Amino acid sequence: MKVILLRFGELFLKGDNRYLFESMLIKNIKNKLKDETFKFEKTFGRYVISNYDESREKVIIGKLKQVFGLYSLSCALELPSTVESITSEINKLSIGKKSFKVFVKRADKKFPVSSMDFAKHLGGVILDNNPNAEVDLYNPQVEVHIDIRLNGKSYLFYDTIKCQGGLPLGCAGKGLLLLSGGIDSPVAGYLVGKRGLEIEALHFHSYPYTSEMARDKVITLAKELVPFVGKIKLHMISFTKVQEMIHLHCSAEYMITIMRRIMMRIAEQICNKYELGAIVTGESLGQVASQTMQSMTVTGGVVEIKPIFRPCITMDKEEIMKISKDIGTYETSILPYEDCCTVFLPKNPVIKPTIDRCEREESKLDIDALIKECMFSEEIIEIE
Ligand code: ATP
Ligand code: MG
Repeated sequence: MKVILLRFGELFLKGDNRYLFESMLIKNIKNKLKDETFKFEKTFGRYVISNYDESREKVIIGKLKQVFGLYSLSCALELPSTVESITSEINKLSIGKKSFKVFVKRADKKFPVSSMDFAKHLGGVILDNNPNAEVDLYNPQVEVHIDIRLNGKSYLFYDTIKCQGGLPLGCAGKGLLLLSGGIDSPVAGYLVGKRGLEIEALHFHSYPYTSEMARDKVITLAKELVPFVGKIKLHMISFTKVQEMIHLHCSAEYMITIMRRIMMRIAEQICNKYELGAIVTGESLGQVASQTMQSMTVTGGVVEIKPIFRPCITMDKEEIMKISKDIGTYETSILPYEDCCTVFLPKNPVIKPTIDRCEREESKLDIDALIKECMFSEEIIEIE
């Protein structure tokens, strides 16, 4: 019988919590395949998907490759764990002149032959049937894997497909992603998702300075994250008034710093309102003036309780771009629609802002009233 064999990685490390993690992973897998017919079986250390529509195998594998917590998968043949049945399957193998290696893994120690001896035996069978083939233990062209499991069944496969790794979505709780239209923040959302954090997203727009297209771009980015992080509640907040007021009253070099401080305060309020446990940004150390250590001190400093996760903090732009291409958000991110941060952009933003100066600039504004107005402008879009 043809099956898909699923392996999970880090789950093993979780001791008593393992059951919780596993049930979450299984739920996520089943949910991912909700439009497919299939049978799901749990054996020790592996999951097996069978009875699926073989013409949809590629689609199913594509979906499974998006599930956080899965480490790798293989399309395999399920066989009874007997010397005869495995040997008879290997008898059919035709590999021409290729080099090969047989890998036997024996979880079931009741299987009567040792892994090493069985590998030698099967290698002999392959050589008998393929006289031009040769064994290559170091760099084989064909890898023949036999995985003898504890459930009385063995799995024969030739390829292992790498999956996302990480931890099952949901096991780390839920956070709020500050989603701009740029390259970095969607990547940040993907990366925290990979550690099990579900997300809602918050976007600040400056309509009518920013266009309808800029808004659609953010919606598209959120949609592109959904296959990995699941449904996203996208909170849209109008930032226009805040920017106008800062522009009018504050020193130009502090404009972005003060904007960020207000964004962070609003983010924390949204977290409190919707019971979200952390703020996530796409910041990367030193990438721009607003992402220096001093800038992050004063912008992060207004957040009272929630942790701020910055998964891109140590990455080069190149590394972030690579992930964004891999997950499919890059092409959308580079669309040239203006972001709220480019409206009224000062020529020389401060690189080392100080708290004192921030507070002095902010005293020229009615911050509480501005934040209230922003919160009032909130619009929610359900992205799925
Ligand atoms: P990105 O590529 O994510 O836009 P960036 O390199 O352009 O990042 P900044 O513009 O300095 O960096 O933004 C830093 C972070 O602040 C972003 O990664 C995002 O998390 C948040 N952010 C910036 N602008 C907005 C916005 N309009 N709405 C929501 N969050 C934003
Ligand atoms: Mg940006």
